[in-house]
Amino acid sequence: MPALRTPTLTLAGVPVRLHASLLLVVGLVAVTVVDRFALRFAAAMAAGLSVLVGVLLVSSVLVHELAHALEARHRGGTIGGIRLFALGGVTELGDHGRTPRSELAVAAVGPWASLVVASACGLGAATAEQWLGGDVGAAVGLVLGLTGWLNLGLVAFNLLPAAPLDGGRILHAVLWRASGDPGFASRSTGRLGQALAAVLVVLGVASAVVRPASGLAAVWSAVLGVVLWRAAAAEARRT
Ligand SMILES: [Zn+2]
Repeated sequence: MPALRTPTLTLAGVPVRLHASLLLVVGLVAVTVVDRFALRFAAAMAAGLSVLVGVLLVSSVLVHELAHALEARHRGGTIGGIRLFALGGVTELGDHGRTPRSELAVAAVGPWASLVVASACGLGAATAEQWLGGDVGAAVGLVLGLTGWLNLGLVAFNLLPAAPLDGGRILHAVLWRASGDPGFASRSTGRLGQALAAVLVVLGVASAVVRPASGLAAVWSAVLGVVLWRAAAAEARRT
């Protein structure tokens, strides 16, 4: 597996490419959470703290992908690198020596890492509110609290049993182990991925029609659906 060209940075020997479209994610998260800060802080402060939540979420996705990459490398796999872009993160892994067991471990470690990040954020939020108090405690508590909840959302979405999500890879490993046929496992999780993608597109279009104010989030959901559909269809065709 060739390494990424022109990585933005290298973490623990893993090349990481950050795409400019991540700014869109930061903006989308900031717009979504800014009301929570506006209740207590002045507009500029509220905006700054909202952007910080967006940056922390992108960093959390990086931790998630890094967990996949390091586990794969630990198991003797080759890693191309990590790409982070507007629709999430992708860790490029080589196929060598894959077994149901190693596939399961590499897939499960990502959501596990996100769960650890969410717990640390929750603990940090509670500690900040208790020990710092005042505006600083409220700001740190709210930033970490929201980041923790967003990470929990990430875990829940990622565990949906559909390709190419982690839940889909976990199900793939289980079906592969049970049937002895990786092609059957790929077709099954690929079809589930296509069904999930269709739901996301329908939800995106429906929310844009019903609630035009949800514009950006609706478009994001629809585009994510289209990208997932393509990945799931490729998975379904694998033999
Ligand atoms: Zn993952």
